[in-house]
Amino acid sequence: MRYNVGFSPLKTSMNDLAPIQAYSPRELVKVHLEDLGAPVVREERDVERKKNEIKQLLARNNAVLVAHYYAPAVIQALAEETGGCVADSLEMARFGRDHEAKTLVVAGVKFMGETAKILSPEKQVFMPTLEANCSLDIGCPSDEFSAFCDAHPDRTVVVYANTSAAVKARADWVVTSSIALDVVDYLDSRGEKILWAPDKHLGSYVKRRTGADMLLWDGSCIVHEEFKAKGLLDLKAAHPEASILVHPESPESVVELADVVGSTSQLIQAAKAMKSKKFIVATDQGIFFKMQQACPDKMFYIAPTAGEGATCRSCANCPWMAMNTLDQMLEVFDHKYNEIHVEPIIANGALVPLKRMLDFKS
Ligand code: SF4
Repeated sequence: MRYNVGFSPLKTSMNDLAPIQAYSPRELVKVHLEDLGAPVVREERDVERKKNEIKQLLARNNAVLVAHYYAPAVIQALAEETGGCVADSLEMARFGRDHEAKTLVVAGVKFMGETAKILSPEKQVFMPTLEANCSLDIGCPSDEFSAFCDAHPDRTVVVYANTSAAVKARADWVVTSSIALDVVDYLDSRGEKILWAPDKHLGSYVKRRTGADMLLWDGSCIVHEEFKAKGLLDLKAAHPEASILVHPESPESVVELADVVGSTSQLIQAAKAMKSKKFIVATDQGIFFKMQQACPDKMFYIAPTAGEGATCRSCANCPWMAMNTLDQMLEVFDHKYNEIHVEPIIANGALVPLKRMLDFKS
């Protein structure tokens, strides 16, 4: 399957939604999820056999596996066992760019594969599935976003990494959650007013912390938005000695309860550095693989997402990240499926703010 930016590989492309302006970011995400159907997270079978097969295929194809902290634990373990990396999106981008392998297999979501391809156009970039997207990306279509930028020409455009290549191509800066505060602080010190997209919770957190003049796009992460302050307080009451770690894509009421607010890598570092032996963590459950590895003597509890009467205690598991499976990985090599292509004009446009991000803290 060939992937082109601007074309949705799902059954319903965004072009089928007419007129697109009639949908809010939240509605766009809802339509997308309905179209996708409820992704079934199947328990992996024959894990060791499949892992061994994939290891051989990676070596034979001079390929390296680059996985996100939210990818399933079995995929993260495979990346580590094969000399690949498990990281946040900023470090994934750097690792893929700097690695000598000719082929990158990116286990994450669409924008991560696109970023890898833009930074390493000479390499072949594959993903276990092209259907793995992100509610922030879906909720920020490039044509609407471009119109938003046109309406505010006096503002510096800063977009989160969780956006399409086309949206990045319209931006002055790309940031991840690990450097968002520093970049906005820097721009604010130069007297620049900011247009921020797409995550409103992260944007509002950065705005509160820096005091910068920021105009926010109305997007959100369907995983982090579900964390509940009330549930978090109840869990804290049951474990008063636990420290609370929160990703800033969470709502303000949850962020306010945190002992540490930070990106995935910053939360792992905090768990290691802090004296606490117990932690309540408000981010995707995939992070526990590396967190527990880094702190084998500590205990971690997932922050509650469920309200009163719900059947699950926490649904903090990204449905798109969960689509990265061993079977999908095997398909990549069997048929050379799922190669990422980005139109050169968009790739060249997106490369400018991406390089700015990588150079900002190199
Ligand atoms: S966890 Fe949220 S921000 Fe991350 S990929 Fe999934 S939907 Fe996007």
